[in-house]
Amino acid sequence: MNDSRAAGVLVGLACGDALGRPVEFRQSDTIAREHGRVTQMLAGGTYGKPAGTVTDDTDLALRVARSLVACDGLDAADVARRFSAWLADDPFDVGGLTREAIRRYDEGAAPAEAGRAALEDRPEGQNAGNGSLMRCPPHALAYEDRGRLAAAAAAESAITHADPRCTASCVACCRVVRELVDGADGAAALAAALRGARDRDAPAEVRERLAVAAEPEARLANGGFVLDTLETALTDALTADSFEEAVVTSVSRGGDADTVGAVCGAVAGARFGADAVPDRWTDRVAETTELRGLAADLVSLTPDGDPRG
Ligand SMILES: [Mg+2]
Repeated sequence: MNDSRAAGVLVGLACGDALGRPVEFRQSDTIAREHGRVTQMLAGGTYGKPAGTVTDDTDLALRVARSLVACDGLDAADVARRFSAWLADDPFDVGGLTREAIRRYDEGAAPAEAGRAALEDRPEGQNAGNGSLMRCPPHALAYEDRGRLAAAAAAESAITHADPRCTASCVACCRVVRELVDGADGAAALAAALRGARDRDAPAEVRERLAVAAEPEARLANGGFVLDTLETALTDALTADSFEEAVVTSVSRGGDADTVGAVCGAVAGARFGADAVPDRWTDRVAETTELRGLAADLVSLTPDGDPRG
């Protein structure tokens, strides 16, 4: 376990989110015309926010991290309570499935039941977004045991995103992050995630995306479908020569730029460490100090029970 890499996961996530927010929903060629590559924290965007403002990606990852620290591991009921309080504050950026699942939780459904009910209401094509992938990286810092890490990542995803493609993507992302934080290189981390996906009988599509990530066959789509985000973020994070290059590449793709940036930032942060995150970015992101502290708290947890889903 390397402390700079652990801090890099959460600081990297927030910086990727904030860097991508102003160009969310834009086309890559429009971004290229207006900005070249996105290398500075910009103001504006769809929600007209100051430079360095984070979105729901960081907001929810923060709540997951705070809950893991407070509960010494995953307690899905505590996470759901925190998500509910966050939504009650009327955040400017909320995913549809997340809103729907939290509404059901507020109406009395248990956390796992809320996610399942929200999923059952959705037609194929709208039920496997990246809304849990973007907030999953804190589990990778809390759980060293790979089996418990997988169980926690899957159970926490299922509060809002119960589709097996979503839960398996969270498991795979957390495994890659954990292997990197523990010192593996990108190829070894991906191989471990692929082995884990096979062992857990993850959907074939998830295994296919992991098999092509960081390879020339990667498709690198930038929409909100969880498998596209997983593949693109892993590829950018694991093939770049620096943290900055990884995140700038992901964000400059446009589309769901804040979330692809957040996931890429978490993985690249695990690979390159917090010291590799540019100061001109962290200086703009108000959450950086708390995220550094949470990363240190998470890696010092010793959850001795199984995750409470
Ligand atoms: Mg967002």
